[in-house]
Amino acid sequence: MDNLSDQQILDLIRSGRAETQAELRRITGMGSSTMSCILKRLRDRGLVHSAGTRVAGRGKPATVLRFAPPGHLLAIDIDGSQAEVGVLNFAGMMLEQTTVEMGSAPQPEASLRRLERAARRLVDRARVDWRDLRALGVNVNGYVSADGVLEFSTVLPWRKTPLARLAQDVFGLTVFCSDGRDRAVAEYRHGAGQGSEVMLYFNVADGVSARPVVNGQLFRGGHRRSGEIGHVVVSPNGAACGCGQRGCLEASISGPAIARRIAADLKRNAGQARVKQLLHLASSGRAAKTIDEVVRLADEQQWPYAQRLIDEIVSLAGKALASSAACFDPDCIVVDGYVFRDRPVLLRRLWLAAHACFKPAGTELAKLTPAMLGPRGKFLSLVTFVGDSLAHAGKLTG
Ligand SMILES: [Zn+2]
Repeated sequence: MDNLSDQQILDLIRSGRAETQAELRRITGMGSSTMSCILKRLRDRGLVHSAGTRVAGRGKPATVLRFAPPGHLLAIDIDGSQAEVGVLNFAGMMLEQTTVEMGSAPQPEASLRRLERAARRLVDRARVDWRDLRALGVNVNGYVSADGVLEFSTVLPWRKTPLARLAQDVFGLTVFCSDGRDRAVAEYRHGAGQGSEVMLYFNVADGVSARPVVNGQLFRGGHRRSGEIGHVVVSPNGAACGCGQRGCLEASISGPAIARRIAADLKRNAGQARVKQLLHLASSGRAAKTIDEVVRLADEQQWPYAQRLIDEIVSLAGKALASSAACFDPDCIVVDGYVFRDRPVLLRRLWLAAHACFKPAGTELAKLTPAMLGPRGKFLSLVTFVGDSLAHAGKLTG
């Protein structure tokens, strides 16, 4: 972009740090006529659009501004056995979406070719010209390097796979690969973290992580591994973890870890009526359903085994959350993942457990806010990640 002020304003809107004209003026100190001229230029170029209004204080409602470069992107979220493919615009609107089975032993090239065939049908259905797609964003759980090499995946047997290069060859598009951690950014910009400065995104699901988003940008760390609190060893003799260590936090409180533990603990009591359904769910690896059932047994039936297990999960999660909060001093903590999702009582207990570990000088830990985006989060994370990547690569104005 040729004008430095235009770039500064665009960056503030893109990162979610400012979303109204008043906020932009407060941060930059610019006058209203200068600001109006800049916003008109950005609107004319299709980079910024209005997304409704917001009431703040007693003044008239303010127009909410959103970053949304013109054109569409293709988004693929690979979750091991299957992948979800979507065609979206940069405002996050989904045009078409489908699910593609990955097969039992997916190989990178064959899987990408299968995804490309499905994506072409989807793009046709969305009435978008393939040549007009701005980029392809690919999410896969694991570690992805800055140049798009999937070093290690927690959901696929792929190791040191040059995913971005392979996808570029197969799809013929500019490709940006992420490892799912940009979901934290999506919550900051589109979900429960809106309006905060330092947001901590605490996720307990198949993995465990605590990711800081500062002024709309994910703090990635020196090796892009910031927030990997799930791989801190909390019990040296504990269960083996997928990362190669033993006794990681993730091997104790992630959904699959809890399911494995229940299956091992209860197999001798398989004949008991109360245990039957729980053991069936845990043994078949249905982690989210296992958590639902164990929480129900603790609450409704006051079953001591289930209650002790949940006490332990809350206590360990609380310590991890307190440690992360101590590092980043967040003004907003967003909790995601099926272990705590839609459970306000457990969320309150999590806050109490964390607060009990960390209240320096009597200050209060930020309240916990449930994540808002749900299943849309994976696609919105790719919208924000691809939009940012295009902006950094200077490919937005073409
Ligand atoms: Zn680990």
